[in-house]
Order: sequence, then structure tokens, then C-alpha cells
Amino acid sequence: MPVQEASLATKPRTCHSRGSGNPPSRVAGVLQDAAARLGEAGIDTARLDAELLLMEALGWSREDLYRNPEGGLRQAQAERFESLVSRRLRAEPVAYMTGTQEFWSLDFRVTPDVLIPRPETEHLVETVAEFLASRPGPCRILEIGTGSGAVAVCLARECAEAEIWATDVSAPALDVARDNASRHGVEGKIQWLRGDLFAPVQGLAGWFDVLVSNPPYVPSGEVGGLQREVRDWEPVLALDGGADGMDFYRRFVREGARHLREGGLLAVEVGAEQGGAVSRLFDAEAGFQRVRVRRDYAGLPRVVTAERIPATKV
Ligand code: SAM
Ligand code: GLN
Repeated sequence: MPVQEASLATKPRTCHSRGSGNPPSRVAGVLQDAAARLGEAGIDTARLDAELLLMEALGWSREDLYRNPEGGLRQAQAERFESLVSRRLRAEPVAYMTGTQEFWSLDFRVTPDVLIPRPETEHLVETVAEFLASRPGPCRILEIGTGSGAVAVCLARECAEAEIWATDVSAPALDVARDNASRHGVEGKIQWLRGDLFAPVQGLAGWFDVLVSNPPYVPSGEVGGLQREVRDWEPVLALDGGADGMDFYRRFVREGARHLREGGLLAVEVGAEQGGAVSRLFDAEAGFQRVRVRRDYAGLPRVVTAERIPATKV
């Protein structure tokens, strides 16, 4: 029980974090100190990160932290916290240290083999969930580039009759995704397939109601200029979208149309500056109509959708 541990740990004999003679480390003090160091290092979310890392070091919940500002740290706990803070100072994302990231109000396991699911990507889930709600009944969804499996798992939970095929080129990512599906009780609704884009579903022409993807979309030349957390820690395979960042969108319109049934939805996440280019690309493609751009809470283009037109009109 964290609260008891904390009060036991206030005994001076065991609570020195920086050698004997120092005053005991207490929650409020170590938090303030760590937040200041992280802030000085230019980390925008310094206070929040310090809290998350202290929760991780102590095995505490956020409530434990707020209720026990004067709780003392045992030396091992203080050392563990210090080691996490040092890793954060080297730009390691908190989610890789804690091994989890919340997305769509669910906890997903993440490892450095997968992109940490972003809040923006919830707009992609929401877009597809709305489309499915407008046409109840069985539904076949193909997700390309599933990573942690966050999108596929959320859609499996949102749509009772969904049957999902989720692909990735990365075998370690698919292991993480599988694990996330079983954590959230939807392992029976998703098939995990390894391979390049549509290769794993070659035989399934006209099969899917939805093709959804958050593909790599960062222009190759901009990957090196991404923030350190992303550039130095997240898999480049999840980020690099080719010379202009558009490689995957081109392949979706060219190769994706044949996998969608009439009236089926193509829904992709886009970078904040790609809304116009991706919607023009989808507009120019004979197989699609009703191209729409959906904005995120910051007002930036985030999801582009298009509907597969009846084959007779192509
Ligand atoms: N769907 C997850 C999400 O939204 O958080 C991960 C998206 S991440 C931006 C893109 C994913 O596409 C990565 O997991 C990467 O391994 C995968 N990927 C990259 N190239 C691919 C390809 N040619 N075919 C299939 N998947 C690919
Ligand atoms: N949104 C990611 C970023 O923060 C890019 C992910 C992607 O390429 N799909 O850079």
C-alpha cells in the first residue's frame, strides 16, 4: 500500500536519496526539483512528466501522489526516480519508460518498436466509428500500418459486428498489437497480417467496407528535424513517408480502390500541412468521390476521407 510505504520511508535512516547527511527526499520536493530540471532542458511537459515518472518509480497512482506531498522516498525509490529523470533528460519519451500510453481512454502497451499513439489519431477512430454507426450491421475493416494496434483495437470495441484485418511490415509491432487486443478483449475480432501494404490481402478484392490508415507521412528530409523524442526514439519506419511524405497516400488510391466495396470508406490521417494535397490526390482518382477533410481540435486538417464509387462508374 503506497501510503504506508511512504510513511515508513520517512524514517531518516532509509530515506536519503543523495548520500547520508542530506535531508530526506519528500514527494513535493523531488517533484519540484525534477520538474525544474526537465523544464530547464526545454521539455514543455516538465511537471506532468515528473509526476508520471514519480508515479512509475513509486508504483503510485496520481491520487497517491496528490494525497502524500510529504511522503518520504526510500533510497531505492529515489534512485529509481533519478534514473528515470536522467533518461527523460536524454529525450526518451515517458511512454517508453512506463510501457503504456492512454488512447481513446484505454491503456495501450507500447515499446520502442511501435509509434506511441497520438491524441490526434483519435479523430481517425472517431471518423470511422461515425461512418460505421451510420450503417449498422456486419462490417469488414482493413487497417494498414497498425503499429501498437490502437486504431484496430478501438474500432473492434466500438463496432460490435466489426471484423478487422490489421497489417504491418514490422513483426515486433504486430506482437505488441496482438497483446493490446487481448488486453482489451478483442483478440477474436482482429486478424494480424505481416507484409507491405496490400500484399497480405491480395486475394480480397472488393472485400472491405473501410480502409483506414495512419501511415508514415513525414517527408524523408524532415525526419532529421523532428523533435528529439520522435527522431531519436520512435521507429523511423513509422514516420518516413518518402520524398514529399505522400508515398503511402499515392499507393492507397492506386492499390486501395480495388479492395473496397462500392460505397466503402477510405479514411487516412494526414500531417497538418497535407490536407490539401491528399484531398486533391483523392479527388483526382477515378475510383473515389465525396472527398472530405476533417480538422482536429487545433483546427488543423487531420483526417481525409473518400468514398469508393460504384465500379460501373469507374
Ligand atoms: N496505427 C498506429 C497509430 O496510429 O498509432 C501506427 C501508425 S505509424 C504512423 C505507421 C505504421 O505503418 C508503423 O507501425 C509502420 O511499421 C507501418 N508501416 C510502414 N511501412 C509499411 C508498409 N509498407 N506496409 C505496412 N505497414 C507499414
Ligand atoms: N504525428 C507523427 C509525428 O508526431 C507522425 C506520424 C506519422 O507519420 N503518421 O511526427
